Amino acid sequence: ERLRLDGRVAYVTGAGQGIGRAFAHALGEAGAQVAVVDLVLAKAEAVACELSLKGIKSLALAADVSKPEDVQRMVDAIVARWGTVHIACNNAGINLNSASEETSLEEWDKTFNVNLRGLFLCCQAAGRIMLNQGYGKIINTASMASLIVPHPQKQLAYNASKAGVVKLTQTLGTEWIDRGVKVNCISPGIVDTPLIRSRELRPLVRRWLSDIPAGRLAQPTDLQAAVVYLASEASDYMTGHNLVIEGGQSLW
Ligand code: NAD
Repeated sequence: ERLRLDGRVAYVTGAGQGIGRAFAHALGEAGAQVAVVDLVLAKAEAVACELSLKGIKSLALAADVSKPEDVQRMVDAIVARWGTVHIACNNAGINLNSASEETSLEEWDKTFNVNLRGLFLCCQAAGRIMLNQGYGKIINTASMASLIVPHPQKQLAYNASKAGVVKLTQTLGTEWIDRGVKVNCISPGIVDTPLIRSRELRPLVRRWLSDIPAGRLAQPTDLQAAVVYLASEASDYMTGHNLVIEGGQSLW
């Protein structure tokens, strides 16, 4: 009962595929109406359509989370349609892969613009509405890479940006809790999504597999209950928390 999200308004960024898509389904199945947000409108529309077919109220929006005007437009569109935002799932992220000594400034900036600046912009835009109404749940997607350095390396910008996600979450989580806004993050291990099937990451994944006590990659479905929990009143005493779901990988 305390895990139900009926009547709540949620959005998920990077929801056109992978983890974000699974989050959108999970929140919708728990009762929330869900704005499906992605850089690529067609992907957002496809997922919003999947939700509609399940009887979930949904809305497809295009936004580049690294752009302040896009983020504001996203929040304004949700408020225009549904009146407010209760649950903000800031999940969009990218993982470019290069040796640290070869990482270009462009790559560094791009990674931080999406993974950290985008998160700041979304937390701030959604947070203002939540602080105003004295209620909100923000769930950011960090990564196990915020805690450990998964080997082999070549993830300098990504790892550093994800460590930043955790600190941003801790800081907002403690700053806003007395005004009813809880901010937590989820740190997945290696999840079987299009992101890790890229040509650059595929060889790494094979090596990573031997580092996972669970003996397999995570599926996006392995993360669905966690996002519902953090979005629900069942987790009201939690804030600034980093919920790690990695099949034990960070312990080995
Ligand atoms: P993915 O690449 O499969 O999907 C990401 C989605 O985000 C895509 O649909 C893409 O179009 C969208 N996107 C990219 N840049 C965007 C932007 N600037 N604005 C809005 N949308 C944008 O990725 P995924 O594996 O589902 O990962 C989702 C999140 O989980 C990311 O933050 C990622 O860092 C994190 N994560 C993934 C793994 C993993 O192993 N897959 C592990 C730990 C953390």
